[in-house]
Amino acid sequence: MVLGILRSFLYQCICSIATSGSCAIKPYNQLTLQSGFRKDGSKSDGYVGCGIFFPPDTCSYRLHASCSVLTAELAAVFYALQKIVASHQRLYCIYTDSMSAFEALCHTDKRMHPVAEDILCYMHELQAQGFKILFCWVPSHVGIVGNEQADSAAKAASNVWQSPNPCNDLKIFTTRHIHSLWQELWDLEIRNKLHFIKPRINIWSIIHIRVTDVKLTRLRIGHTRFTHKHLLFGERAPECRTCHINFTAAHILTECPTFNSHRVTYFNSSSPNMKELLGEFPHPHLFDFLKAIGFYHSI
Ligand SMILES: [Zn+2]
Repeated sequence: MVLGILRSFLYQCICSIATSGSCAIKPYNQLTLQSGFRKDGSKSDGYVGCGIFFPPDTCSYRLHASCSVLTAELAAVFYALQKIVASHQRLYCIYTDSMSAFEALCHTDKRMHPVAEDILCYMHELQAQGFKILFCWVPSHVGIVGNEQADSAAKAASNVWQSPNPCNDLKIFTTRHIHSLWQELWDLEIRNKLHFIKPRINIWSIIHIRVTDVKLTRLRIGHTRFTHKHLLFGERAPECRTCHINFTAAHILTECPTFNSHRVTYFNSSSPNMKELLGEFPHPHLFDFLKAIGFYHSI
């Protein structure tokens, strides 16, 4: 029964801290905590920072642009501990709106975030010195005064974070940078017929039936057996008898009036565009149309 009352008491305290912000003073006294921190990590458009609110002061640090939000959140916790160690008081509560930082601190394994490892080592040192530190999650952007001040500080940081950048953050940053350079080059290829079908260079899902996936890819790049085998055999290119132009995948799918009625039947339009038919999510009736006009087996 005593345990039940204690559990009930702690639950009320935790709820009060998590949901009421400045009202945290009440449970905070009941738990005989002497001081509280609020900390925050922030990332936007190449700027990464973290902020700490230690009433009545705030401090903040700027991290390298490659650092993730999680790294910024953990850096804020680390700096909060550095603030704590300089104090003569021994009982603290650190408030954060980052659930991912909590999870990173709770899951100790070989792939643990390096800053989380530093925090745990630091915590052990502090505990050996008699410090007692609690962590508490608070909801973000709901007007909690300390949290908003830490958030504002994180977005205006000028002091530079002095620790090495986590390797995984650098890998992700480098991959994204290379991807964006590749995208910039691809954005210039507006005359390339593939550009209209796939303007973004993200990875598309495949069709799990191999033969269908191959046919779809051939249509997207515009190279089919029917339209291009003449190059292998040294023959004349196949010509549309209606339009008197060489057959292309685009002509068959979207232009030739011979197949207008089929297009209306399968696509509800006599002039669909190639992106609608062959884009990331191909038209659901594409292959039915190709079978109906007798082109499916010549792709
Ligand atoms: Zn034609």
